[in-house]
Amino acid sequence: MSKQVILTGLRANNDLHLGNYLGALLPMVDLQKKYAGEYQINLFVPDLHSFTTPIDHSKLYEQTMHNLKLFVAAGLDIENSDTYIYRQSYIPAHSELTVILNSFTYMGELSRMTQFKEKGEGKQNVSAGLFDYPVLMAADILLYGAMYVPVGADQTQHVELTRNIAIRMNNKFGELFTPPVEIKKQLEFMSQNERLRIRDLVQPTKKMSKSDESGMGVIFLSDSPEIAAKKIMGATTDSMGKVQYDYETQPGVSNLLDMLATLSNEPIGNVVKRYEGQVQYGPLKKDVAEAVKTFLTDFQGKLANVNTDKLMHKLESSEAEMNVMANSTLTKVQKAVGLRQ
Ligand code: ATP
Ligand code: MG
Repeated sequence: MSKQVILTGLRANNDLHLGNYLGALLPMVDLQKKYAGEYQINLFVPDLHSFTTPIDHSKLYEQTMHNLKLFVAAGLDIENSDTYIYRQSYIPAHSELTVILNSFTYMGELSRMTQFKEKGEGKQNVSAGLFDYPVLMAADILLYGAMYVPVGADQTQHVELTRNIAIRMNNKFGELFTPPVEIKKQLEFMSQNERLRIRDLVQPTKKMSKSDESGMGVIFLSDSPEIAAKKIMGATTDSMGKVQYDYETQPGVSNLLDMLATLSNEPIGNVVKRYEGQVQYGPLKKDVAEAVKTFLTDFQGKLANVNTDKLMHKLESSEAEMNVMANSTLTKVQKAVGLRQ
């Protein structure tokens, strides 16, 4: 019996940020520590997803390779034989399956996707690629029969859509796909009640996002530790004069508390308690700034020491193996829809 698959991807449109690190990279590394041996772990760079929003194409290849290095710097063990790292566009089955799934996905479903609404809002020319990318994401997941897809809160809707497409096609064609498990069960599996969603420092009602144009509210993993600390000190808070963990009324302060708790690996309750009764936000900001500075200094040191030869070797061997796995699913689908005998 082949192992069940845990899969996650991080877009290569820009440098990754603290939200990606805390919300996706770190949980992935923890999952590897916990489950390698028992599960197959697929960690990939969805490079075809990169230009669903405008990017500098001359930097894409380099960015893709850089992001792979970030996985290793975050602690991913590339010597582990149950772990596969790959670039999406190096496995052509992703594109082929997308074209097929498109005809089994409804315009109405895609129009309801919050990510599409948020990213397309106010833009003059919204690409069909942006509209359709949840289908590419469904292909990313279904090609490997991934049961668990650890993603941040912004992506859970796409995992639900993937389930719906898989179940719809299974109803029509028999057992074609292994749908990912329901979101609630995914959360239980990863022992999280709610997905962490780090907010933008300037506009804390929005999530921290790579494609944010100004980058002022985003801590990039390549930011100098000093600049990052300054961004924290300048974070938007509020005028309530009390430290409470409540995203409804104090999103800026709650975001700072979440960052501190995850960076120091402490329960949020303990962190909140330390600031109880404080009427000024200065001390909290200073502590978060210090924690971010320490983290970035350490992380950037690790990044400089990544062995690129080893990484290339792992990447190419993973891509060869994942092409075989993906093509086997693709062939099954091609037969089911009548393209092959
Ligand atoms: P983009 O603006 O280009 O969509 P992004 O920052 O949302 O960039 P993605 O590549 O879409 O990043 O997502 C990569 C992973 O990081 C996903 O699992 C996503 O859920 C997670 N993630 C993204 N932003 C955050 C955030 N602010 N807090 C926690 N996790 C996040
Ligand atoms: Mg995103």
